[in-house]
Amino acid sequence: MQHLYLHVPFCRRRCTYCDFSIAVRKRIPAREYVDAVVQELRQGLTDPGRKPRDPGDSEDGLETIYFGGGTPSLLPPDALATLLTSVRDVFRLTSLRDAVEVTLEANPEDVTLETATAWRRAGVNRVSLGAQSFDDRVLQWMHRSHDAARIAAAVRTLRDAGVDNISLDLIFALPAELERDWARDLEQAVALGPAHLSLYGLTVEERTPLARWISRGAAAPPDDDRYADEYLLAHSRLAACGYRFYEVSNAARDGCRSRHNSAYWSGRPYRGLGPAAHSFDGAERRWNLAAWEAYRRAVAAGRSPVASREVLNDEQRELERVYLALRTDAGLDVATLYRPLPSSTALWVDRGWVEVRNQRLVCTPEGWLRLDALVRDLTGCATTS
Ligand code: SF4
Repeated sequence: MQHLYLHVPFCRRRCTYCDFSIAVRKRIPAREYVDAVVQELRQGLTDPGRKPRDPGDSEDGLETIYFGGGTPSLLPPDALATLLTSVRDVFRLTSLRDAVEVTLEANPEDVTLETATAWRRAGVNRVSLGAQSFDDRVLQWMHRSHDAARIAAAVRTLRDAGVDNISLDLIFALPAELERDWARDLEQAVALGPAHLSLYGLTVEERTPLARWISRGAAAPPDDDRYADEYLLAHSRLAACGYRFYEVSNAARDGCRSRHNSAYWSGRPYRGLGPAAHSFDGAERRWNLAAWEAYRRAVAAGRSPVASREVLNDEQRELERVYLALRTDAGLDVATLYRPLPSSTALWVDRGWVEVRNQRLVCTPEGWLRLDALVRDLTGCATTS
């Protein structure tokens, strides 16, 4: 089974907290982008040792396709359709049956009946909407370009177009001065009945507007207590509404987990296309040039767009394996640990931070708040998260 990620780097403007590798553009260079990614895909430029039509690339071989960004919904629908046709061709799929999970990250303001219908026709069957909050004041502070009403309208429109598998992204732990009502935002999100929710605590990244505001005292720095309170509130509210946290930041109704992201968390190989996209073949991880122009020029010249590669040593692999396993509700098989369980594990269990189920260590919500410390205890290594 294979997992394909396509990074679409364009955004209309930069959000307050965002340090992603994006290209802010009024006009989206859709044709240049499609040409570059299709060329990378067809020539296997990031993967010169492996021809795109190797036997592993059979119809049954592709399980998920994920358009992430940036803002993939800024691509014109025909550009998206061209990309999916090329993927189908290279992977020899007769059609993009719904057996392949095809996710598009979208901003609410880009969802119209016309675009959503065209996405669905092209093969998209899952949309991850960047909602972030249902409070217009908060959305303006974040420098988002939609208002709260647009989120509900986008969900209705997606369903009208035949896309029922909808995920909403929300951000919590915002500065106190915003007086954001997190419980109300959760209620409004749940009222829309999404299949899936992704909840991210606000982090302050260097060289973002938010970091500058904090450094000059115009915004409060992150507050760990607020983070913990809001995280735990989300767990109790969403559990009461039929959602299960299957990963530290992700909750879903039964049968609606993200298959693409689950592949990352279980350490399966994936292939990334586009600027800044990462790939992993089971041993080596590599990533493309992050800047759009540098990526485009490399591909156009027939050069590999890979910026760098790494192979993890045994200790790094073990650290990553433990960390990824504990992020999920499947937890960590104790028998696979290289070292005996440390004595502190009993304390973690006593305090209700981890549970032992069928020889597996599984984090509780309180444990997920302390994930780095737990991984440090179990492996004796510092985490990098
Ligand atoms: S839309 Fe997403 S990728 Fe673009 S600036 Fe905002 S947070 Fe960053």
